[in-house]
Amino acid sequence: MGAEDWISQIADKNLREWSVIPTSALVFAQEVRELCSKNQCGAYGTSWACPPAIGSLEQCRDRCMAYEQMLVFTAVYDLEDSYDIDGMQKGAKQFRKMCIRLHKMLKENGVDHEVLANGGCHRCRVCTYPKEPCRFPDELLPSLEGQGIYVNQLAERAGVRYINGANTVTYFGAVLY
Ligand code: SF4
Repeated sequence: MGAEDWISQIADKNLREWSVIPTSALVFAQEVRELCSKNQCGAYGTSWACPPAIGSLEQCRDRCMAYEQMLVFTAVYDLEDSYDIDGMQKGAKQFRKMCIRLHKMLKENGVDHEVLANGGCHRCRVCTYPKEPCRFPDELLPSLEGQGIYVNQLAERAGVRYINGANTVTYFGAVLY
């Protein structure tokens, strides 16, 4: 079973594009981590899925480079307009759930992998971070961007669209394998 089978098994109507690239094509940038720490997305330091909990840039690079390939995939969600924050948050939650389904399916199939998802984790009403370990480690998917990867550059390398038109939001995920 390969990437094409995984995507078809997930069969999610919001899935839009996917592509496989070698991890040797990945670029890890400290600037991305500095942007994370400015917390414009509001997710920095709020869960075990984002920096600083996911480790240093070097640790993230080592995590990714332990695998040979990366399946990059996108899903697109409709918004009422470009200010539709509720729609963006709803799409983000749906996307993360889809990534968890993908992770569980790969695990059931014995694939040595790691899934990287969109930032933040809203699985629990109140996250245990930083006082106690994650309550659901099997559903804890590290942030793709938090690895220090510029997602717009990743999109270009993978040959998938970074944005998908007016009144939509596009989320990126990846499978390292
Ligand atoms: S699953 Fe719960 S405890 Fe774990 S990172 Fe997400 S919100 Fe926090």
